[in-house]
Amino acid sequence: MPELPEVEVVRRGLERWVAGRTVAEVQVHHPRAVRRHLEGAEHFVAALTGRTVAAAHRRGKYLWLPLAETDGTAAGRALVAHLGMSGQLLVEKPGEPDEVHLRARFRFTDGGRELRFVDQRTFGGLAVEDAPGDGVPPRVAHIAMDPLDPGFDVDAFSAALRRRHTEVKRALLDQTLIGGVGNIYADESLWRARLHGARPTDKLTRAQVADLLEGVRDVLGESLAQGGTSFDSLYVDVNGQSGYFSRHLAVYGQQDRPCPRCGTPVRRESFMNRSSYSCPQCQPRPRARR
Ligand SMILES: [Zn+2]
Repeated sequence: MPELPEVEVVRRGLERWVAGRTVAEVQVHHPRAVRRHLEGAEHFVAALTGRTVAAAHRRGKYLWLPLAETDGTAAGRALVAHLGMSGQLLVEKPGEPDEVHLRARFRFTDGGRELRFVDQRTFGGLAVEDAPGDGVPPRVAHIAMDPLDPGFDVDAFSAALRRRHTEVKRALLDQTLIGGVGNIYADESLWRARLHGARPTDKLTRAQVADLLEGVRDVLGESLAQGGTSFDSLYVDVNGQSGYFSRHLAVYGQQDRPCPRCGTPVRRESFMNRSSYSCPQCQPRPRARR
């Protein structure tokens, strides 16, 4: 499942390859790909055809492409995309063979590379939605910004985190508090900050919150610099290249391997039907609350 840095890689690819181009033709190959466009596939096609993609934005794991009329004025609508478990947005030369799981194709008036939405498991999807005011579609507006976003508010995040009465890993995975941090990046960030995921957020010191945020930023930033990570061989970025951050993980998926900091074998604990990985020495479990 693509995590936040991969989606940011896709956003950058869309910004580079698709922004500024005008849609000539849209083909929907599978109705599930546009099921979130409630007016149906034909309406989806009509809403995009002849419109220009103005930019590429991201909030958490949602991408949206604001649309403009041919004269450049904002259309007040945006193409919203979520990659789900296995979705890919590929920029391909026209004439390249269709992917087996091709769900939608966009051709542009310049006759150059086309945009393809490929999704084996069809949990992802596309929709054209209203994007009024500041241009953030309502579906996306509730998702908190993340530290890769220039608008991320460090002080507000710190205050909100310490106000929560929850465990710190749960807070990191809460999209209303910080956008798009998934299981892998949460574990890696907690290891960097030397915090066990079960630590209560309201007991964290300012310094611990600062360390945690720095850990999140570093992990996301390094992953982004390396093209994103992926544990799903289906996932590739907008140009079809896999990320390789997975080689650099300190604890995630590293059960019984030595902690890179102290050499203690990494432990795995079950967490919300998934796994948490941490170092027993660097990240001691919190004492039970009385
Ligand atoms: Zn350690």
